[in-house]
Amino acid sequence: MPSETMNAIVLRYANYRERDRMLSLLTPEHGRVEVLSRGCRRPKSPLMTASELFVQGEYVVFRTGERFTLTACTVADTFYPLRLEPYRLTCGTYMLGLCQVAAQPEQPAEGLFSLLLRGLTHMTYCQDEAAIAIMNAFLLLYASEIGYRPRLNHCAKCKTLLSQEGNAHLDIQAGGLLCNACAGNHQNSLTQEQVSWMRDVLARGFEVALTQADTALFNILRRYVESRIESTIKAGRLLP
Ligand SMILES: [Zn+2]
Repeated sequence: MPSETMNAIVLRYANYRERDRMLSLLTPEHGRVEVLSRGCRRPKSPLMTASELFVQGEYVVFRTGERFTLTACTVADTFYPLRLEPYRLTCGTYMLGLCQVAAQPEQPAEGLFSLLLRGLTHMTYCQDEAAIAIMNAFLLLYASEIGYRPRLNHCAKCKTLLSQEGNAHLDIQAGGLLCNACAGNHQNSLTQEQVSWMRDVLARGFEVALTQADTALFNILRRYVESRIESTIKAGRLLP
């Protein structure tokens, strides 16, 4: 039987017919996979939990040509506590939306999958960390994962090594910081502390301190990322 098991996270769903759902899954091996979850909205359906947003697990799917139907799932985590906190829930939903845009069918997405799993874990279980700091780290790592890592050491226009003094200027179109000569009256001003935190995140991922609710940085990173992917994601507009 053409049955396959894939580790996956539910990015999105659309209710379909009376009791079905079409799930959009993020998988490491196959990128984004659209799967029909038949009867999952029926009371007591064994697929009910597996057909909710954020759920991660081993999804067993049956393949007919280009179509996939969910037959079973061993749930690893539902990230349930996320649903109890509206603000963190919005952040988590934003992460899903960003991954939905970046993941393509049949294009391996190991890095993106692992980033989403780590992001959701921090957002759900690390209550001592600031939600917006987790989101900022996620946005930076996401940009890097999809090939738009911002240039933070050399001027994105003239390539000179940047000074470590005074404010820095992030140019969204140029894809990184600008030196004083290239910056002119640039408005995306960042402090050296913000820049060194960003460098740290790009080097060490979520291992950095995630305690500062830096909403100004969030606004800049959100615009940076959304201009790169040429999409605006609804949940992001509700933040910070
Ligand atoms: Zn320059």
